[in-house]
Amino acid sequence: LRRNPGEVEFHQAVREILDSLGPVVAKHPDYADAAVIRRLCEPERQIIFRVPWVDDNGAVQLNRGFRVEFNSALGPFKGGLRFHPSVYLGIIKFLGFEQIFKNSLTGMPIGGGKGGSDFDPKGRSDAEVMRFCQSFMTELYRHIGEYTDVPAGDIGVGGREIGYLFGQYKRITNRYESGVLTGKGLTWGGSQVRTEATGYGTAFFTAEILKSRGDSFDGKRAVISGSGNVATYAIEKVHQFGGRVIACSDSTGYVVDDQGIDFDVLTEVKQARRGRISEYVELRGASAKFVAGGSVWDVPCDIALPCATQNELGEADALTLIKNGCAIVAEGANMPCTPQAIRKFADADVIFAPGKAANAGGVATSALEMQQNASRDSWSFEDTEHRLAHIMRSIHDRCLETADEYGAPGSYVIGANIAGFTRVADAMLAQGII
Ligand code: NDP
Repeated sequence: LRRNPGEVEFHQAVREILDSLGPVVAKHPDYADAAVIRRLCEPERQIIFRVPWVDDNGAVQLNRGFRVEFNSALGPFKGGLRFHPSVYLGIIKFLGFEQIFKNSLTGMPIGGGKGGSDFDPKGRSDAEVMRFCQSFMTELYRHIGEYTDVPAGDIGVGGREIGYLFGQYKRITNRYESGVLTGKGLTWGGSQVRTEATGYGTAFFTAEILKSRGDSFDGKRAVISGSGNVATYAIEKVHQFGGRVIACSDSTGYVVDDQGIDFDVLTEVKQARRGRISEYVELRGASAKFVAGGSVWDVPCDIALPCATQNELGEADALTLIKNGCAIVAEGANMPCTPQAIRKFADADVIFAPGKAANAGGVATSALEMQQNASRDSWSFEDTEHRLAHIMRSIHDRCLETADEYGAPGSYVIGANIAGFTRVADAMLAQGII
């Protein structure tokens, strides 16, 4: 705490991991001898930089940029960029720290990192977003590369932003280095399924939970928070699996649609118009209603998938979900459930899947994009989706096997934390004190 003052989200993420690691350290004293945990909590490198840019009125604007290169034991630093006004070092460090374990769980050769800026793209013109991205990359380019650090998208960073960032990187370096960023457009080095991957992956993971209990999505009612990238494609896949998503949200409120959220209407509002979730009701008509403010978790459901942002689901929300009979919570977002909410789920035997396992499909598909870039190849949608499904099944099974091995059967939290940790810790031991 003294070393990282004021970084509350980072403290929360570290505490959540450390709470699980007692049995591993007891079994492997060499991890403690080599100070693996202390070294894991200290980023290898943190970069903070000035991002000046000029808005459409000719006024100079100023933002702060971050890249935290947390751990490269398993491969180049890998993790998204977040553009949101709430961004500060504590958020980027929590995300980077989580990313180490998530990336490890995928079984792929990627280290952990994260970056972003307190820039708010909402209400900005395309030209302003482009100038911001160009200024951001004018500093970031010297720290990243196919073999060093490979950023991707996150909140506020989608295909448009990755395009502007890639263009500026190429211009400054004079290199068409496809593997430097993931989430690229399909005609210029991107991978099929990357856009859909985090949401699809969360739905695949939830389907595995259901399958492991002899159940399926068929006829289940789900509620999903957010209406951005992760939420949108989780909704699409849950519907393909036979479930019905009856509510989703944004930071202004939520919509309930008893017929099931219509994917085409949602993407028209959120992607084509970059609009607010309330506009969904105008296009959809009578089956939908908009509730301003409030909590989407008030809507009764069998399955809850928080897909918006950190600490969006607190203790009171957890109690409401439990009272309404919700049986499964799987995190599409990073750390959306507070520790108090997670404790309530455990007390009530609600199955809880943490984000580092349930939302790992995005980064796993980014690693598939890197594989395609390295071999100058591109795979079909079906092939790539098949690989994603396989990866999510493997993560699910590894969580349960590890939880069993360490005496916590059925705990996805213990399974994910320990399985993620041991792979990184073993690589750190092998690579010496660095
Ligand atoms: P988007 O920017 O596409 O969407 C974010 C959604 O969450 C929007 O609906 C937004 O509403 C809502 N939201 C964001 N901040 C807040 C807030 N403070 N309060 C209420 N609602 C909020 O982001 P993504 O879908 O890409 O990311 C969502 C989550 O998933 C994040 O936690 C991210 O870290 C995580 N994640 C994303 C991955 C990816 O591949 N994109 C990979 C793994 C995890 P509004 O528009 O009103 O702000």
